[in-house]
Amino acid sequence: MHDVTERVYEHVLKTDPDQKEFQQAVYTFLQSIDKIIEELPEVTYHKVLERMTEPERTIMFRVPWIDDEGRLQINRGYRVEMSSAIGPYKGGLRLHPSVNLSIMKFLAFEQVFKNSLTGLPMGGGKGGSDFNPKGKSDAEVMRFCQSFMTELYRHIGPDTDVPAGDIGVGGREIGYLFGQYKRITNTFTGILTGKGMDFGGSNIRPEATGYGLVYLSEAILRGEKMELAGKTCLVSGSGNVAQYTVEKLNELGAKVVTLSDSSGMIYDESGISPEKLRYVMNLKNVKRGRIKEYAEKYSGVEYIARNPEEPNPVWNIKADYAFPCATQNEILKADAENLVKNGIKLVGEGANMPCSVEAEKILMGNGVLLAPAKAANAGGVAVSGLEMAQNSARMTWSREKVDQELRNIMNNIYKNISEAAEKYSEKNNFVDGANIAGFMKVSRAMLAEGYV
Ligand code: NDP
Repeated sequence: MHDVTERVYEHVLKTDPDQKEFQQAVYTFLQSIDKIIEELPEVTYHKVLERMTEPERTIMFRVPWIDDEGRLQINRGYRVEMSSAIGPYKGGLRLHPSVNLSIMKFLAFEQVFKNSLTGLPMGGGKGGSDFNPKGKSDAEVMRFCQSFMTELYRHIGPDTDVPAGDIGVGGREIGYLFGQYKRITNTFTGILTGKGMDFGGSNIRPEATGYGLVYLSEAILRGEKMELAGKTCLVSGSGNVAQYTVEKLNELGAKVVTLSDSSGMIYDESGISPEKLRYVMNLKNVKRGRIKEYAEKYSGVEYIARNPEEPNPVWNIKADYAFPCATQNEILKADAENLVKNGIKLVGEGANMPCSVEAEKILMGNGVLLAPAKAANAGGVAVSGLEMAQNSARMTWSREKVDQELRNIMNNIYKNISEAAEKYSEKNNFVDGANIAGFMKVSRAMLAEGYV
């Protein structure tokens, strides 16, 4: 590493010694910035990297709520406002028992550069809580969301910070959060994105991350004269991103053979047809069931329970392309070796930071095309940006218009990251391309705005 980037990384290790995920995100980013830092003395002089790795503001708070038995429960809430250099903070809220400050900071850090890549004026932030929505009644989820917003509302605003969904936060949670914000502030504004269509939501927002992932992957494949149609794909997860990734892959003529959740995976060699996908959407979104039930409903489907001590079985199936859409570090060294052994040609990251540092090296070292999360899953926040624009203008755009905008944005991202890769790194190194292209815009804004 260059001594400037090394110094920044060592500072992060020293000041945040327990924040492994944040360290990992910073490390991968600095590895790319290493290639250009020599040419940017002003970035070094004005300590842009040091400022980028320190959140502008970190908010942590108590979230008390009453469960269905009348008992008081306490969770911890977070909002990390990482950078407002190019626009109001923007990024999702995650509700999952694993949530901690390290995970919040890694997600907020990634979000800054992802949002920059969309070309829309959005800064980066992320928030959430260690609340586990699994197994909770609607009333419990509502009471939690109301309590969470009762503190969060004072830190956010349509021109300050606009949260959205992430793991564990879908339409139901956004509705409860929005209702409480409106009640406390007596304002009806576009304070959250991912809202229902009846109260300010955008067409295509639920679909956007999955569709965008497939659009970007398609653009990368096209650049290599490769196709999606007729190919076999692996998808992990079975939530929002996974579902709409499968929908778009089906539409474009590919066959998806896997889905998973934290308990296990299904392998359906005949492919997850549109009809079977409708079953999954109902199972996961309405009944809040487990993916195991898919194997009980359809014949010829194998269910493999997850053993966290062993490599993830999703990545040990022969296929052409893989789309991790569950969570961070779901592809480790052994999984990457399995993917390479099984002939995978492209990995499109729907989840944030799904590959460990070692896994990323193995994949890229073996010629696998890697579409990094910052670029590949930027479709979600891009359409959130379009939702903000529609809210400001008090308008609703058609599905066709939003989908076309999303396609344009993803094609533009492909153009920018592939050009940056060729100019500063090497052809098809989209990890470097995304980091460098995202960084350039944010750092220019930071230099222009002075020491803030
Ligand atoms: P959902 O909550 O809708 O679905 C998450 C899925 O991943 C579920 O199937 C869940 O299984 C599985 N999962 C979650 N945590 C783990 C874990 N620790 N181990 C194994 N499986 C796990 O979330 P999304 O689909 O919205 O998000 C998925 C990924 O995409 C995340 O990394 C998120 O940050 C990223 N992303 C999401 C965007 C969006 O617009 N929603 C935008 C950009 C990125 P189970 O039900 O068992 O928990």
